[in-house]
Amino acid sequence: MRVFKFGGASVKDANGVKNVVKVLQEVGYENTLVVVSAMGKTTNSMEAIVDAYFNEKANLPSKIQEVTEYHASILKDLFPNKEHLIYQRVKELFDEVKGFLAWNKSPNYNFVYDQVVGYGELTSTSIISAYLNEIGMQNTWLDVRTLIKTNNIYRDTTVNWEKTQEQISEKVNKKVLNITQGFLGSDDNNFTTTLGREGSDYTAAILAYCLSANSVTIWKDVPGVLNADPRYFKETQLLNKISYKEAIELAFYGASVIHPKTLQPLQRKEIPLHVKSFLNPKNDGTTVGKGNGIEPKVPCFIVKKDQVLMKLSSLDFSFIVENNISDLFKLFHDYKMKVDLIQNSAISFSVCVDNRFGRLQELLDTLKSRFKVVHQEGVSLYTIRHFNTEAISSLQNGYEVLLEQRAKETVQLVVK
Ligand code: ADP
Ligand code: ASP
Ligand code: MG
Repeated sequence: MRVFKFGGASVKDANGVKNVVKVLQEVGYENTLVVVSAMGKTTNSMEAIVDAYFNEKANLPSKIQEVTEYHASILKDLFPNKEHLIYQRVKELFDEVKGFLAWNKSPNYNFVYDQVVGYGELTSTSIISAYLNEIGMQNTWLDVRTLIKTNNIYRDTTVNWEKTQEQISEKVNKKVLNITQGFLGSDDNNFTTTLGREGSDYTAAILAYCLSANSVTIWKDVPGVLNADPRYFKETQLLNKISYKEAIELAFYGASVIHPKTLQPLQRKEIPLHVKSFLNPKNDGTTVGKGNGIEPKVPCFIVKKDQVLMKLSSLDFSFIVENNISDLFKLFHDYKMKVDLIQNSAISFSVCVDNRFGRLQELLDTLKSRFKVVHQEGVSLYTIRHFNTEAISSLQNGYEVLLEQRAKETVQLVVK
């Protein structure tokens, strides 16, 4: 059995959906489970709905309208017959969103978020499943929330592997073409949970693990994993092979082409992960599997934009050591700052963080009661794996380097 994952970019319009069909026809779709994300940037639009609900109720109808119209235009291109049941189904899904928001009493942002954003995936998979059936590719639509069981930490949930395994063994027929959603799960009360943004790759890995699949393929708008993000670097090279360990390192440092949690379940069962182009499905792309390092062995560049660099020193000139550092990490955790890099010296402690949940000001206010704090927003963190001097100097040109840290295989630079 194989697991495929198609991301938002691959199904951003009707042509994208038709291309998914083409890929399946070219590479075969027997014994295949297909995981699909929300179409295009729908998850951002769903987030805007949640945001309007909490912060700007007047905007709510127009935000819902925007997503509805986007899907309506894709439906129109795929299903000329306006009587097709899919029109009714998609309407029902958006009515559920509206119904939920009308009746909801919970003030918990993260809970509401999870109940709402998942409709992006429920809609995309309903449309794609119906389209495949329409053109004669019989398939089974599965509600992934009945398969992936999680705790109830909304927006950042943890998988309950035992219960998930049970549900998948019981409910998935491996012999047919299955279509299901990425990103979603459900808690013990069957409320929807989400695995974190970009979590659909992880969904594919969870399902592959529980099904003991032969392989996972994630179909992308790039030829595979490159040695740098083509949005920010001009000359990139395709990596043909990457070991699990190396891929985990790349994902850890922020190579956004693979979600970091995806690799561990696959590694445990030695299930190979292929990253391939949905435009050239017959090309090899990248294979992540057993082995060492990367092939070809070239420096790999990872950039994280819009980070925050903080430099802390104590108000009484004492050192920042164990007791302070443990307090600091507790604060970073409490304010949901992802720590990218730390560097400690006798009198100052520097830390580069990702202000993903927008709580920087609150954190700074708390820190300033105990430390002298200097901070810079909008800095970039570059990581080079397998660096050489040429690779480093290519980055130093044109940037002001604020902090540098070297280990055997990895160098990191915070630059402005
Ligand atoms: P999906 O549609 O599956 O969600 P993503 O947009 O998350 O796809 O991932 C594909 C994008 O990842 C590419 O378009 C590319 O800009 C970016 N990317 C970042 N790092 C890399 C890398 N090392 N190799 C290839 N693509 C990368
Ligand atoms: N649709 C979700 C997101 O955009 C999950 C995913 O695409 O991986 O974050
Ligand atoms: Mg993505």
